[in-house]
Amino acid sequence: MMSASPSPTQPGRGAAAIDVQQLHKYFGDLEVLKGIDFHVGRGEVVCVIGPSGSGKSTLLRCVNRLEEPTDGRIVINGTDITDEHVDLNRVRTAIGMVFQQFNLFPHLDVLNNLTIAQRRALKRKQGEAEEIAKRNLERVGLSDKVHAYPGQLSGGQQQRVAIARALSMDPEMMLFDEPTSALDPELVGEVLQVMKDLASEGMTMMVVTHEMGFAREVADRVVFMDGGVVVEENSPEELLENPQHERTKQFLSMVL
Ligand code: ADP
Ligand code: MG
Repeated sequence: MMSASPSPTQPGRGAAAIDVQQLHKYFGDLEVLKGIDFHVGRGEVVCVIGPSGSGKSTLLRCVNRLEEPTDGRIVINGTDITDEHVDLNRVRTAIGMVFQQFNLFPHLDVLNNLTIAQRRALKRKQGEAEEIAKRNLERVGLSDKVHAYPGQLSGGQQQRVAIARALSMDPEMMLFDEPTSALDPELVGEVLQVMKDLASEGMTMMVVTHEMGFAREVADRVVFMDGGVVVEENSPEELLENPQHERTKQFLSMVL
Protein backbone atom coordinates (compact mmCIF):
# COMPACT_ATOMS: atom_id res chain seq x y z
CA MET A 1 0.00 0.00 0.00
CA MET A 2 1.39 3.43 -0.92
CA SER A 3 0.04 5.63 1.82
CA ALA A 4 -0.66 4.42 5.31
CA SER A 5 -3.81 5.89 6.79
CA PRO A 6 -2.91 8.83 9.04
CA SER A 7 -2.37 7.88 12.63
CA PRO A 8 -4.73 9.63 15.04
CA THR A 9 -1.68 10.75 16.98
CA GLN A 10 -0.29 12.78 14.09
CA PRO A 11 -0.27 16.50 14.85
CA GLY A 12 -3.29 18.30 13.52
CA ARG A 13 -5.37 15.14 13.36
CA GLY A 14 -7.39 15.75 16.50
CA ALA A 15 -4.97 13.65 18.52
CA ALA A 16 -6.35 10.59 20.24
CA ALA A 17 -6.48 10.58 24.02
CA ILE A 18 -5.71 6.84 24.07
CA ASP A 19 -4.00 5.15 21.13
CA VAL A 20 -3.12 1.48 21.62
CA GLN A 21 -1.21 -0.13 18.77
CA GLN A 22 -0.58 -3.85 18.36
CA LEU A 23 -0.63 -4.47 22.09
CA HIS A 24 0.42 -7.93 23.20
CA LYS A 25 0.33 -9.07 26.79
CA TYR A 26 1.50 -12.39 28.18
CA PHE A 27 1.13 -13.69 31.71
CA GLY A 28 3.86 -16.32 31.64
CA ASP A 29 3.05 -18.50 28.62
CA LEU A 30 -0.55 -17.30 28.42
CA GLU A 31 -1.14 -14.72 25.70
CA VAL A 32 -3.98 -12.62 27.04
CA LEU A 33 -3.89 -9.73 24.55
CA LYS A 34 -3.11 -10.76 20.99
CA GLY A 35 -2.35 -7.61 19.08
CA ILE A 36 -4.94 -5.07 20.17
CA ASP A 37 -5.49 -1.87 18.24
CA PHE A 38 -7.72 0.43 20.22
CA HIS A 39 -8.25 4.14 20.48
CA VAL A 40 -10.34 6.70 22.28
CA GLY A 41 -10.60 10.21 20.88
CA ARG A 42 -10.65 13.30 23.08
CA GLY A 43 -14.09 13.68 24.58
CA GLU A 44 -15.15 10.29 23.31
CA VAL A 45 -16.90 7.62 25.39
CA VAL A 46 -15.93 4.09 24.41
CA CYS A 47 -17.52 1.07 26.07
CA VAL A 48 -15.65 -2.23 26.03
CA ILE A 49 -17.78 -5.35 26.27
CA GLY A 50 -17.02 -9.05 26.06
CA PRO A 51 -17.10 -12.31 27.97
CA SER A 52 -15.26 -12.85 31.22
CA GLY A 53 -11.58 -13.62 30.63
CA SER A 54 -11.45 -11.91 27.23
CA GLY A 55 -8.79 -9.42 28.37
CA LYS A 56 -10.86 -6.29 29.01
CA SER A 57 -9.36 -5.52 32.42
CA THR A 58 -5.86 -6.30 31.22
CA LEU A 59 -6.27 -3.85 28.33
CA LEU A 60 -7.59 -1.17 30.66
CA ARG A 61 -4.80 -1.79 33.18
CA CYS A 62 -2.15 -1.57 30.45
CA VAL A 63 -3.45 1.88 29.53
CA ASN A 64 -2.02 3.32 32.73
CA ARG A 65 0.74 0.73 33.07
CA LEU A 66 -0.75 -1.04 36.07
CA GLU A 67 0.16 -3.97 33.82
CA GLU A 68 3.35 -4.02 31.82
CA PRO A 69 2.68 -4.48 28.10
CA THR A 70 4.73 -7.30 26.55
CA ASP A 71 4.83 -5.68 23.12
CA GLY A 72 3.21 -2.82 21.24
CA ARG A 73 2.73 0.89 21.81
CA ILE A 74 0.39 2.87 24.04
CA VAL A 75 0.22 6.57 23.35
CA ILE A 76 -1.64 8.76 25.85
CA ASN A 77 -2.28 12.33 24.71
CA GLY A 78 0.70 12.07 22.39
CA THR A 79 3.08 10.56 24.96
CA ASP A 80 4.31 7.01 24.38
CA ILE A 81 3.94 5.53 27.85
CA THR A 82 5.72 2.32 26.88
CA ASP A 83 8.87 4.43 26.55
CA GLU A 84 11.20 3.47 29.38
CA HIS A 85 11.95 7.13 30.18
CA VAL A 86 8.33 8.13 30.71
CA ASP A 87 7.32 9.63 34.06
CA LEU A 88 4.71 7.06 35.12
CA ASN A 89 3.45 9.12 38.02
CA ARG A 90 2.60 11.98 35.69
CA VAL A 91 0.89 9.61 33.28
CA ARG A 92 -1.16 8.04 36.04
CA THR A 93 -2.15 11.37 37.54
CA ALA A 94 -3.73 12.29 34.22
CA ILE A 95 -5.80 9.09 34.15
CA GLY A 96 -8.61 8.59 36.66
CA MET A 97 -9.38 4.96 37.48
CA VAL A 98 -12.54 3.51 38.95
CA PHE A 99 -12.70 -0.20 39.75
CA GLN A 100 -15.39 -2.69 40.58
CA GLN A 101 -14.20 -2.64 44.18
CA PHE A 102 -14.19 0.94 45.38
CA ASN A 103 -10.85 0.73 47.23
CA LEU A 104 -11.62 3.53 49.66
CA PHE A 105 -9.55 3.80 52.83
CA PRO A 106 -11.90 2.49 55.54
CA HIS A 107 -10.15 4.40 58.34
CA LEU A 108 -10.44 7.79 56.61
CA ASP A 109 -13.61 9.83 56.26
CA VAL A 110 -14.88 10.76 52.80
CA LEU A 111 -13.14 14.14 52.79
CA ASN A 112 -9.76 12.65 53.62
CA ASN A 113 -10.25 9.85 51.11
CA LEU A 114 -10.49 12.64 48.55
CA THR A 115 -7.63 14.80 49.79
CA ILE A 116 -4.90 12.25 50.49
CA ALA A 117 -3.84 11.60 46.88
CA GLN A 118 -4.16 15.27 45.98
CA ARG A 119 -1.73 16.12 48.77
CA ARG A 120 0.69 13.30 48.04
CA ALA A 121 0.73 13.19 44.25
CA LEU A 122 -0.15 16.80 43.40
CA LYS A 123 1.36 18.43 46.50
CA ARG A 124 -1.79 20.41 47.13
CA LYS A 125 -2.24 22.04 50.51
CA GLN A 126 -5.00 20.59 52.70
CA GLY A 127 -7.21 23.69 52.31
CA GLU A 128 -7.08 23.67 48.54
CA ALA A 129 -7.47 19.88 48.41
CA GLU A 130 -10.57 20.10 50.61
CA GLU A 131 -12.12 22.78 48.45
CA ILE A 132 -11.60 20.64 45.34
CA ALA A 133 -12.87 17.55 47.17
CA LYS A 134 -16.07 19.32 48.22
CA ARG A 135 -16.67 20.57 44.69
CA ASN A 136 -16.39 17.02 43.37
CA LEU A 137 -18.58 15.54 46.10
CA GLU A 138 -21.21 18.01 45.01
CA ARG A 139 -20.83 16.80 41.42
CA VAL A 140 -21.67 13.24 42.49
CA GLY A 141 -24.46 14.37 44.83
CA LEU A 142 -22.75 13.55 48.12
CA SER A 143 -22.10 16.92 49.71
CA ASP A 144 -23.82 15.71 52.87
CA LYS A 145 -21.39 12.79 53.31
CA VAL A 146 -18.17 14.78 53.71
CA HIS A 147 -17.51 13.42 57.20
CA ALA A 148 -18.98 9.94 56.80
CA TYR A 149 -16.76 6.86 56.81
CA PRO A 150 -16.93 4.41 53.90
CA GLY A 151 -18.50 1.75 56.12
CA GLN A 152 -21.45 4.06 56.76
CA LEU A 153 -22.23 4.41 53.06
CA SER A 154 -24.10 2.20 50.61
CA GLY A 155 -22.15 0.58 47.78
CA GLY A 156 -23.54 3.09 45.32
CA GLN A 157 -22.48 5.98 47.52
CA GLN A 158 -19.02 4.48 47.97
CA GLN A 159 -18.60 4.14 44.23
CA ARG A 160 -19.68 7.77 43.76
CA VAL A 161 -17.07 8.76 46.36
CA ALA A 162 -14.49 6.78 44.38
CA ILE A 163 -15.48 8.69 41.24
CA ALA A 164 -15.26 12.01 43.09
CA ARG A 165 -11.84 10.98 44.37
CA ALA A 166 -10.64 10.29 40.83
CA LEU A 167 -12.10 13.59 39.59
CA SER A 168 -10.31 15.50 42.35
CA MET A 169 -7.03 14.74 40.59
CA ASP A 170 -8.22 16.72 37.54
CA PRO A 171 -7.79 13.76 35.21
CA GLU A 172 -7.75 14.21 31.46
CA MET A 173 -9.61 10.95 31.05
CA MET A 174 -11.41 8.35 33.13
CA LEU A 175 -11.14 4.58 32.95
CA PHE A 176 -13.91 2.49 34.50
CA ASP A 177 -13.60 -1.27 35.03
CA GLU A 178 -17.07 -2.70 35.64
CA PRO A 179 -17.92 0.08 38.09
CA THR A 180 -21.40 -1.24 38.85
CA SER A 181 -20.76 -4.99 38.91
CA ALA A 182 -20.36 -5.20 42.68
CA LEU A 183 -23.52 -3.20 43.40
CA ASP A 184 -26.97 -4.34 44.38
CA PRO A 185 -29.24 -3.76 41.38
CA GLU A 186 -31.12 -0.86 42.96
CA LEU A 187 -27.84 1.07 43.41
CA VAL A 188 -26.58 0.72 39.84
CA GLY A 189 -28.62 3.61 38.45
CA GLU A 190 -27.16 6.34 40.67
CA VAL A 191 -23.62 5.43 39.61
CA LEU A 192 -24.52 5.24 35.93
CA GLN A 193 -26.20 8.65 36.25
CA VAL A 194 -22.98 10.20 37.56
CA MET A 195 -21.11 8.62 34.64
CA LYS A 196 -23.68 9.95 32.18
CA ASP A 197 -23.27 13.44 33.60
CA LEU A 198 -19.51 13.16 33.19
CA ALA A 199 -19.90 12.02 29.60
CA SER A 200 -22.19 14.92 28.79
CA GLU A 201 -19.62 17.31 30.26
CA GLY A 202 -17.19 16.04 27.62
CA MET A 203 -15.01 13.74 29.72
CA THR A 204 -12.95 11.23 27.75
CA MET A 205 -14.03 7.81 29.03
CA MET A 206 -13.13 4.15 28.55
CA VAL A 207 -15.75 2.00 30.24
CA VAL A 208 -15.62 -1.77 30.62
CA THR A 209 -19.19 -2.69 31.40
CA HIS A 210 -21.96 -5.24 31.15
CA GLU A 211 -24.57 -2.46 31.26
CA MET A 212 -25.80 -2.60 27.68
CA GLY A 213 -28.39 0.12 28.33
CA PHE A 214 -25.61 2.48 29.37
CA ALA A 215 -23.51 1.52 26.34
CA ARG A 216 -26.44 2.09 24.02
CA GLU A 217 -27.34 5.44 25.51
CA VAL A 218 -23.97 6.97 26.35
CA ALA A 219 -21.20 5.38 24.27
CA ASP A 220 -19.97 6.95 21.06
CA ARG A 221 -18.48 3.59 20.16
CA VAL A 222 -18.69 0.05 21.52
CA VAL A 223 -15.78 -2.38 21.24
CA PHE A 224 -16.42 -6.11 21.54
CA MET A 225 -13.48 -8.21 22.75
CA ASP A 226 -13.17 -11.97 22.90
CA GLY A 227 -10.16 -14.20 23.42
CA GLY A 228 -7.68 -11.33 23.61
CA VAL A 229 -8.65 -9.66 20.34
CA VAL A 230 -11.00 -6.88 19.29
CA VAL A 231 -13.60 -8.81 17.32
CA GLU A 232 -15.54 -5.78 16.15
CA GLU A 233 -16.34 -2.20 17.02
CA ASN A 234 -19.07 0.11 15.92
CA SER A 235 -21.62 2.67 17.02
CA PRO A 236 -23.77 1.24 19.82
CA GLU A 237 -26.82 1.01 17.57
CA GLU A 238 -24.94 -0.96 14.91
CA LEU A 239 -22.97 -3.17 17.23
CA LEU A 240 -25.85 -4.07 19.52
CA GLU A 241 -28.54 -4.41 16.87
CA ASN A 242 -26.61 -5.54 13.85
CA PRO A 243 -23.50 -7.44 15.02
CA GLN A 244 -21.37 -8.73 12.14
CA HIS A 245 -19.58 -11.60 13.82
CA GLU A 246 -20.88 -14.86 15.15
CA ARG A 247 -19.05 -14.42 18.45
CA THR A 248 -20.60 -11.00 18.97
CA LYS A 249 -24.06 -12.38 18.21
CA GLN A 250 -23.55 -15.20 20.68
CA PHE A 251 -22.36 -12.87 23.43
CA LEU A 252 -25.19 -10.41 22.90
CA SER A 253 -27.77 -13.17 22.89
CA MET A 254 -26.61 -14.07 26.39
CA VAL A 255 -26.52 -10.57 27.88
CA LEU A 256 -29.31 -8.65 26.14
P1 ADP B 1 -11.72 -9.75 31.63
O1 ADP B 1 -11.52 -8.45 32.34
O2 ADP B 1 -12.20 -9.59 30.23
O3 ADP B 1 -12.59 -10.69 32.41
P2 ADP B 1 -8.95 -10.20 32.28
O4 ADP B 1 -8.18 -9.15 31.55
O5 ADP B 1 -9.18 -10.00 33.71
O6 ADP B 1 -10.31 -10.47 31.49
O7 ADP B 1 -8.23 -11.60 32.11
C1 ADP B 1 -7.83 -12.10 30.85
C2 ADP B 1 -7.07 -13.39 31.07
O8 ADP B 1 -5.85 -13.10 31.72
C3 ADP B 1 -7.78 -14.42 31.93
O9 ADP B 1 -7.50 -15.68 31.41
C4 ADP B 1 -7.13 -14.23 33.28
O10 ADP B 1 -7.16 -15.42 34.01
C5 ADP B 1 -5.71 -13.85 32.89
N1 ADP B 1 -5.04 -13.00 33.89
C6 ADP B 1 -5.43 -11.78 34.27
N2 ADP B 1 -4.59 -11.25 35.18
C7 ADP B 1 -3.63 -12.18 35.37
C8 ADP B 1 -2.45 -12.25 36.18
N3 ADP B 1 -2.10 -11.22 36.98
N4 ADP B 1 -1.71 -13.38 36.13
C9 ADP B 1 -2.06 -14.39 35.32
N5 ADP B 1 -3.14 -14.40 34.52
C10 ADP B 1 -3.92 -13.31 34.54
MG1 MG C 1 -12.35 -7.71 34.09
